[in-house]
Amino acid sequence: MANFGHVYLIGAGPGDPGLLTLRGKDILEKADVVVYDRLVSPAILGMCNPKAKMVDVGKMPTHHKVKQSEINKLLVQFAKEYPQGVIARLKGGDPFVFGRGGEEALELVAAGVEFDVVPGITSAISVPAYAGIPVSHRGIATSFHIITGHEKAESNGELSLDFENLAKCPGTLIFLMGIANMDFIAKRLIECGKDPKTPLAFIEKGTTPYQRTVMATLETAGETIARENVTAPAITIMGGVVELRQTLAWKKNLPLSGKRLVVTRAAKQASGISARLSALGAEVIETPMIETRTLECPLVMAQAHDSIGSAMPVCEQPVTALASHVIASPEGAWQSSPVDFNTLANFDILAFTSTNGVESFFKQLFAAGYDVRVLAGKKIASVGKITEKKLLEYGIRCDYVPEDHTGEGLGKLLAALIPQSTEGATSYPIPRILLLQGNLADDTLLNLLPQATRWVVYETLPVSELPDWKREAVENADAVVFASTSAVENYCSVILSGVRSTESKDLNRDSSTTPNGFAQNDNNACYPRKSFCIGRMTESAARKHGFNTVTSDETTMDSLVKKIVEFYTKNS
Ligand code: SAH
Repeated sequence: MANFGHVYLIGAGPGDPGLLTLRGKDILEKADVVVYDRLVSPAILGMCNPKAKMVDVGKMPTHHKVKQSEINKLLVQFAKEYPQGVIARLKGGDPFVFGRGGEEALELVAAGVEFDVVPGITSAISVPAYAGIPVSHRGIATSFHIITGHEKAESNGELSLDFENLAKCPGTLIFLMGIANMDFIAKRLIECGKDPKTPLAFIEKGTTPYQRTVMATLETAGETIARENVTAPAITIMGGVVELRQTLAWKKNLPLSGKRLVVTRAAKQASGISARLSALGAEVIETPMIETRTLECPLVMAQAHDSIGSAMPVCEQPVTALASHVIASPEGAWQSSPVDFNTLANFDILAFTSTNGVESFFKQLFAAGYDVRVLAGKKIASVGKITEKKLLEYGIRCDYVPEDHTGEGLGKLLAALIPQSTEGATSYPIPRILLLQGNLADDTLLNLLPQATRWVVYETLPVSELPDWKREAVENADAVVFASTSAVENYCSVILSGVRSTESKDLNRDSSTTPNGFAQNDNNACYPRKSFCIGRMTESAARKHGFNTVTSDETTMDSLVKKIVEFYTKNS
């Protein structure tokens, strides 16, 4: 078999992220490329390896769908581009249920690319289940049939379905992709003898916070769709089982059902509030505020001094104000100089404290024209098992890993290797230790190992760019939830500016506000202007940036959540 990447055709399930399989999640977490469809929820996209290349084939920048033949080719192309790589093809529901997964698999076979199929929960069954409709039921339906309502006969544009047989079929009929044609389908079924009073249900955006179920009968199908404005994605289910919904509709309409709220993810408290808002029915879009970036070359840190000679204070030096060789760290701003990899010869032990550190170091080493042979004879230390595993990927076995997997544990372990000198003379040489860390690493290790040298191999910055899917999710949100003033500032610098900047843009300008009350950034994208704020200070920060505000009575999460629920209950 050629040296191609491995493609996984993964079913994402019908929408509720909890319905993704464990195997699917596992693969997404390590994917190098994710090729995804429109119906995949942002929460599932958020589970993908943050470093994966995300390719939206449901929609192109020009808003045209990518043709199936092009998707097939794309998968083969990625398999070739990423030898040994993991290419996830993520599709709504199950890949082999009207998902065209079979066509993609055939193309992979033809190109000699190996693949796995990871089945997903198909919407055909799960969406009715969420509406309280079992697809089969003793005494009512002994079979169910999943039918595409989209298939057109080549010649005359009519549906190529066998209506005669479908009309005779006593089982439950489940139509996917059929809303646009349902008026026609219902009429044809009646013409062929199906009872016009057959109960049916349209279930829109099933299993998501936007799920809606509309009941009808075969004879009222078309007019109901028009009157209720049923829109895709929706399933149509027909048959006696539909009546069970009256007793079995278990999914409660929650106070925040149908609302999409953005929560910034910098603050520790954010995930707490996200979970609470989701439990109340909202779709929560968490936006990260920081990211890591490998430096071009490791930097050795030395404390920088301002003009009067004192060390720069920590907080006044924003992380983003990194001139080429100035790095911000928790201890202040540091003047630093690029290292020469030849100086690696001066060290006996290399200590890594994160997988980011490992990846960045090797990237820099290889870019400088060296390879792992420069590490020959050196001892390698890792803070814990995950970093140890990452090192193994580069063919490096660790010599030292502390039991408790902390910086302090590692520091103590390495400190124990250093002979305690009495009277200055030691019987064996002191190992020279090199720490490979990020700019925000604290000084725990350096304090325990004062003789060690630290190279900064990566830095942590405010997020410079959001992936397209995340931007789109934010664009379509109902409101932003701000749990601190810094959340407002971070959000504005990341989301609204569209470029990395420490100066948030002031959106309180007429030209940047669209008639629908959304703010616009320089790329003309529209973002929600409604915000829920935790208390007056956050409120005034949000107002300064042009947001409409609804503010909690007290500065607590409880009060903020209560306010959001109150607002939507009053305004629904
Ligand atoms: N492979 C998918 C089906 C793809 S065809 C599966 O197994 O579910 C796309 C159609 O699936 C949509 O037009 C709609 O009819 C249905 N569908 C998918 N997700 C849905 C959802 N969350 N709610 C209602 N219908 C859905």
